[in-house]
Order: sequence, then structure tokens, then C-alpha cells
Amino acid sequence: MFVSQCQTRAYNRLRFRRCWGDGLSFEDTNYFFGRAIDVMDVGRNIEDLLVTPDRSVSVKIPLEMDDGRIRVFEGYRVQHNNARGPFKGGLRYAAEVDLDEVQSLASLMTWKTALARLPYGGAKGGISVDVRELSRDELERLTRQFVNRIHEFIGPHTDIPAPDMNTNAQVMAWIMDQYSLLHGHSPAVVTGKPIDLYGAEGRESATGRGVVYVIEELLKDEGRDIKETTFAIQGLGNVGSYTVRFLDELGAKIVAVSDVSGSVYEAEGLPVREILKYVSGGNLIKGYADSTTITNEEILTLPVDVLIPAAIGSVVNETNMHEVEASYIVEAANSPVTPRADEYLKDKGVVIVPDILANVGGVVVSYFEWVQNLQRFSWKEKQANAELHATITEAYRKVRKLAKRRNLDLRIAAFVLAIGRVGKATVLRGIH
Ligand code: GLU
Repeated sequence: MFVSQCQTRAYNRLRFRRCWGDGLSFEDTNYFFGRAIDVMDVGRNIEDLLVTPDRSVSVKIPLEMDDGRIRVFEGYRVQHNNARGPFKGGLRYAAEVDLDEVQSLASLMTWKTALARLPYGGAKGGISVDVRELSRDELERLTRQFVNRIHEFIGPHTDIPAPDMNTNAQVMAWIMDQYSLLHGHSPAVVTGKPIDLYGAEGRESATGRGVVYVIEELLKDEGRDIKETTFAIQGLGNVGSYTVRFLDELGAKIVAVSDVSGSVYEAEGLPVREILKYVSGGNLIKGYADSTTITNEEILTLPVDVLIPAAIGSVVNETNMHEVEASYIVEAANSPVTPRADEYLKDKGVVIVPDILANVGGVVVSYFEWVQNLQRFSWKEKQANAELHATITEAYRKVRKLAKRRNLDLRIAAFVLAIGRVGKATVLRGIH
């Protein structure tokens, strides 16, 4: 049953609507937050404190292009909550980035870090830019200019950025360098750096690896054999491609994959290694013609056991929710299922593993990187993977147990656990 109309609650400093939209918005995250709050015993004052971002910074970034033109971009850093530790979260470079989206993602980071018991709060940032329009030099200058404008708000003990959509280890290296020019040598100011520059082994593959650890636990609980389970994965960026690779290593039956250019489907299973090799050479799926080609909309509604949206937000929404045939959705991307679709699919019996649990692996290994940077010490990948496995399995078990005990879906159980931890820290620290 979903709530049939938007309900408006007036908060102290923020209008928070118990509603949904089909874009990736702060309202959507707050909808799930509100659903969890409804089954908790959190005072109204604490609720207000938890929903409101601590600080939202918007900056203008002028960039001199290679041909001498000046273009102006908008950059953001939203620090949502730091009751449990320094703000933490990625930076995304994408045309659709705006303050509302960044607030939504920053809030998700607060709940994600709390769910994994990392000593962090939540933040997110980004620049509204289509990176395909920039040369490598322009991207570097844009990144350094962004750091020049936000450096006072970030730092190894205040706010630690990381990669997200369209940012990578090289971008993190530029951030570390620019911040260090202004503040002295500071490897711990960002995570997701190159291995040769204070990065951590296992960080690049961590989100995909974590997605697969969660899937293994889920299938165990459901009494399913991964080799008999069919998967469709939307998106072959960092998260999608590692997810596909690790699922394939376990013998999963991957029947469909996609990237921005198109999707391929083969009911008997795809030659996944060949496809990954093909796309890692810089090729687009569109040019891979060995299997039946379907559209990027169709991949979401295939008759598969597990659907893994691993690309952008709000892809499962009001327009296609009735066609979804998967029994499980594992949210490798942030916010891929809108609140309305979430309510509809839940009622239909689809089990959804929420983003704050499914894709938490990235920030877990970011935490390991940060700890290593602060200690001037480095771990082997085996240790990072083992610690990641322990952290993510414990989070999954706790969510599953609470969901069963209180008859909640996995998303609301995950939010309840996370909100409880942040709420407790807030009260213990005192409100001032
Ligand atoms: N951007 C990733 C996320 O959404 C990783 C954040 C981090 O490592 O701080 O979880």
C-alpha cells in the first residue's frame, strides 16, 4: 500500500514533503527516511536535526577552455551530518548534477556510513558538467579550480571526498595535489586515489565486490543456487563491470548487460568475459553484435531472477514499474528505484536490497584507505577484501534480522538501524 497523496510537514528550516517524484531528489530520500521514522520512536526535535543538511556549498567555477573561451560551471558540496565522524562521500561530474540531487546523495551517505558502522558522517558533491565535452587538461583545471573554492570546507578530519559517477583515481590525485599545495602534504583528504599515490589495494573494485558479497548472502537466505539464478545488469561503469566480473567468477547466469549505448541479451547466458574485454578496450556495447540487442528500457523489464541497476538514479519508476519481472532488485547504483516504484514492487513481493546496503562496499574500503593514510601504512588486497566481507555481511545480517523481527522491508530496516545510530550519537554529543 502506498500513501495516496503527498503530505507536507513543515520542519524548522526545511519543507520536507512525504512525497515522491520521478527525478533523483532529496524528497525521495526523505520519503524513505520518513517511512523509517514512522516505525521508530525518535523525538520530533531529533527528527528535524537528522533530516536537515549541516551545510550546502554552491560555487561558481570559471574554466578557461583549451581554445581560450571561458565557460562557467556550478559545483556543490553538501555536508549532511557529522554526528558519528567526519563528513564522507563522493564527487560526481554529470550534466544533471544540482543541489537537490547532491543533498539527496549526501543524506544517503549519512545512513550508509552508519549502517556499516564506519566512523563517518555523510556528504556528497559534484560539478554540473558533461565530461565528454572536456579534454583531459580541461578536466584537470576544472578539478583544481573546484578544490580552490571548497578547500576550506574539506580536510582529512573534516570532510573526505571520493570518486563517484564520472570521477576516478586520477581526479582524486589532482584533488590531493591541489589540496596539499594549499594545506601541506595531505594524502588522507580524499580516498579512491591511485595505488601509486597513497591509494588502497581493493578500493577500485570494492563497490562491485560488496554488491556480490550481499548477493551471496541474499541467495543463501532465499535457498537459491547462484548457478541457477539469472541476472540482468544495467550499467558497465566501475560498479557494473566489477559486479559482472565477480558474479561470472561465481558461475552466475548473466543474461543481459548494458551501457549508455545499448544492451545485449541472451536467454542462455552471455559470454561475459568476452564482453568485458570488448568494453574495457573503450568500445561501446552497441558495436557488440554477437547477441540479441535490446533497448536500455527493455533490460529493466526482462524475465530474470535478479535485476541490478548499476548506473544512474530513478531508472525504475512509475513509467516501467508494472513491467518489472525480476524477483529481486539489488541497488548497485544510488537511488535507482523511486519511492512510488519501491512501494508498488514491494506490494508485488519483489525483494529490494537498498543502495545504502548493496553499494556500501566503496565507502567501506575508502575507510580502510583513509586509516592506512593516517597511519602511513598499507594493507594487502586480501586483507581489505576479508575486512570488507566481514563488514558487509554483518550489516546485511543485522538488516535482515530486524526486517524479519519487525516485519519491515529491507530498505526501511536499513534506515531504521542507521537512523538509530546517528540519533544516538546526536543525543550523546548534546545539541548545541
Ligand atoms: N561514491 C561512493 C558512494 O556513493 C563512495 C563514497 C566514498 O568512498 O566516500 O558510496
